[in-house]
Amino acid sequence: MKVRAAVLERTGASLEVVSLDLAPPGPAEVLVRLEASGVCHSDFNAIDGTAETRCPAVLGHEGAGVVEAIGPGVTRVVVGDHVALSWAPSCGMCGECLRDLPQLCSTAWPAMETGGLMDGTTRLSRDGEPVFHYSFLSTFAEACVVPEKSCVPIPKDVPFDVAGLVGCAVTTGVGAVWRTAGVRPGDRVAIIGCGGVGLSALMAALAVGAEPVIAVDAAPAKLETARSFGASEGVLWAGSAEATAEAIREVSGGGVDYAIEATGRPEAMAAAFLATRARGAAVLIGIPRADATLTLPALSIPRMERRVLGSIYGSSRPERDFGTTLALYRSGRLPLDRLVSHRLSLDEVGRGFELMRSGDALRVVLDLNT
Ligand SMILES: [Zn+2]
Ligand SMILES: [Zn+2]
Repeated sequence: MKVRAAVLERTGASLEVVSLDLAPPGPAEVLVRLEASGVCHSDFNAIDGTAETRCPAVLGHEGAGVVEAIGPGVTRVVVGDHVALSWAPSCGMCGECLRDLPQLCSTAWPAMETGGLMDGTTRLSRDGEPVFHYSFLSTFAEACVVPEKSCVPIPKDVPFDVAGLVGCAVTTGVGAVWRTAGVRPGDRVAIIGCGGVGLSALMAALAVGAEPVIAVDAAPAKLETARSFGASEGVLWAGSAEATAEAIREVSGGGVDYAIEATGRPEAMAAAFLATRARGAAVLIGIPRADATLTLPALSIPRMERRVLGSIYGSSRPERDFGTTLALYRSGRLPLDRLVSHRLSLDEVGRGFELMRSGDALRVVLDLNT
């Protein structure tokens, strides 16, 4: 079939919406008619080369839609199901999956780097030449073929824009708090970087009864937004890791149990570490450049039992956690719809990135069913 999709021809180019060929789903694959896709910083990292990506590629990895066809052997979904898409399918059989770390699946990650699906081949093409998938999903398109294990069925009353965000930003943020850190009631939490991921972490910390929950950002407007989501304090980035950490330590009464870092900047990671109290942990979820390094004062690690916790995709298991997150959204305890600040069409995807980079947007969502 033919689909319209936003293609990155090469690193540094702007996205072009063109018509591509999409092959039918193979074994254990699913054709999804897309309804909504979030615009994520990781897509921009692919565009500007911060993260190496095989081109030409259809970007987008935060989507939701309706199952239109299933390939041989698919059991997880049926035609007509509404699904949120996970960019971290897992094989269930490798060493990491058997250690209950599906987010680190050693089958899926190498496959993702090929720009193909789980078998390393692509379903997208143009004039017979391959076009590559991005993170198994390629949601900047009218439809996509994805691994069955990327499909998580959702209730039909959940809006597609919210379901799409659960596929990346929300799960990355709430999972870091609930799964990686295991925040408990009364824990002191700081969130550094109040974009879509950071605000998701903020909502998750509030939902489990963390107190205080301190928002940290370089933009005063982001702190205002964080306060409107329920943050108890706002700390403006003070120009250095040390000064910012000192401000967090002061408003938290001596340091936080968990400092969630959502920007990927090494100086913000250092601030997260320095803001922790004894036995506290910096939880690092922002993706830095591949060559970035992080320098920390070593003595306080044994002396204060400080920790650094890495978190990819919120250490989550999408099959379990998307449903939990959406149930809390439906009961009003996670107001995820408040993250959606702009709705654009597929053709406006370039403007979506402008909005994201300007800091004026919380989350931009493409409405793909127009
Ligand atoms: Zn993302
Ligand atoms: Zn695996």
